[in-house]
Amino acid sequence: MKKSHIKQESEQRSSSGIEGGFLVVLGGGESGVGTALLGKAKGYDVFVSDKGKIKDKYKQVLIQNEIDWEDENHTESKILKADVVMKSPGIPDKVALIKQIRKAGITVVSEIEFASNFTEATLVGITGSNGKTTTATLTHHLLKQELNVGLAGNIGDSFAKQILEDDYPNYVLEISSFQLDDIIDFRPHIAVITNITPDHLDRYDYKFENYIESKFRITENQTEADYLIYDADDEVIVNHLKKCAVKAILLPFSLEKNIENGACLEKENIKITINNNQIIMPTSNLTLEGKHNVKNAMAASTVAHLLKIRKQTIRESLENFQGVEHRLEQVLKINKVQYINDSKATNVNATYYALESMGAPTIWIVGGVDKGNNYQELFSFVNEKVKAIICLGVNNEKLLNTFGNMVDVIVETQCMNEAVKIAYKLAETGDNVLLSPACASFDLFENYEDRGRQFKEAVRNL
Ligand code: ADP
Repeated sequence: MKKSHIKQESEQRSSSGIEGGFLVVLGGGESGVGTALLGKAKGYDVFVSDKGKIKDKYKQVLIQNEIDWEDENHTESKILKADVVMKSPGIPDKVALIKQIRKAGITVVSEIEFASNFTEATLVGITGSNGKTTTATLTHHLLKQELNVGLAGNIGDSFAKQILEDDYPNYVLEISSFQLDDIIDFRPHIAVITNITPDHLDRYDYKFENYIESKFRITENQTEADYLIYDADDEVIVNHLKKCAVKAILLPFSLEKNIENGACLEKENIKITINNNQIIMPTSNLTLEGKHNVKNAMAASTVAHLLKIRKQTIRESLENFQGVEHRLEQVLKINKVQYINDSKATNVNATYYALESMGAPTIWIVGGVDKGNNYQELFSFVNEKVKAIICLGVNNEKLLNTFGNMVDVIVETQCMNEAVKIAYKLAETGDNVLLSPACASFDLFENYEDRGRQFKEAVRNL
């Protein structure tokens, strides 16, 4: 099934002209080190170069495997000798070195592109602005009941390393737009686009259209034998589909429309139909809350149905899926107040779904690094459900101005412990305390995981 542009030495020179040789890996993190290991095993000379510091655990792997590396430096003369460059998704195209590499005509690929050349596995690629990790993890959970399947991409061990060490016959891949920016032949048999809302626009010349096109690259190499699963309630996706020629079989999912081939709601049930073969599951039994999670469940179950997982297995697995840390994670109930960690909500759209799913008066902890947020779509939920707002960021002015007149209590703090203590004081029986920041975390925390963990710790210490 696979055609390869990055061929092993014995094979023919392909259209993009890469046939093994000198592989330069830019970025010594999980995907970079995985690629280096796979590249070495496949006969490449490998050099890993990182402008920052490579973590000790990765350095050890490189040393043990006798892979040439440098950190806190890019030796340009060496890098420009590459036959192929694997660029970590964190490195933007506008960096001078990348421009030089491209100018020199060197092929630049992402890890999923490089690695997928060395597997015949059935690939399920999941992208979107929000819901990638949840949908990928849930899909993996459904498939693993009956299939031998790996979970990779932005989750856990790199795809490249898993191909080298485990070589599963099936993979579920969580794929960011940055990974898609540097594909050439990557072709998932099943692609999922969960939704598209503006995000990371700094990497796309502040043009939403560029970001949409990047997401749609997940389907560009698909053929009539492949499938594209997408949210039919998402106007951005639907409008873009009208403009581009997708070869894959379309399997939309929707909470609003009736869908003949794909997934939709019928009364309180999820109904999935593929070639007249139907599966019906009650939404009431889903462990994950919120409408967005019904969508995620639709997407994951459609994949499972396509890959012939038994209906009963799909139903049971949806019922016992425990969710993913930092995504509407139920932490503790104290004095009949539920504390919820949604630290991964780093944009307004994710917080929209969090607030939407709140079934009780809510004390909302919000704030951090604002990426040009427009909070308007949250107003009706805030009016309806939020009784107090705790702003948790270095600069809370925009939040105070935006929501100041909407709730009785709005306070600010720069300390998670204090935020949680204030929430505890304000909360009454039956309320929710929700951390759903709608912002990035870098002003006060290392990352969203650190923010979520500090929240949980503070709650446990109450
Ligand atoms: P990603 O990997 O795309 O960042 P996650 O599954 O980690 O997505 O979820 C990120 C945030 O978005 C969480 O706050 C989560 O509750 C929310 N979320 C999950 N699924 C969806 C969806 N389908 N639409 C909108 N928001 C979602």
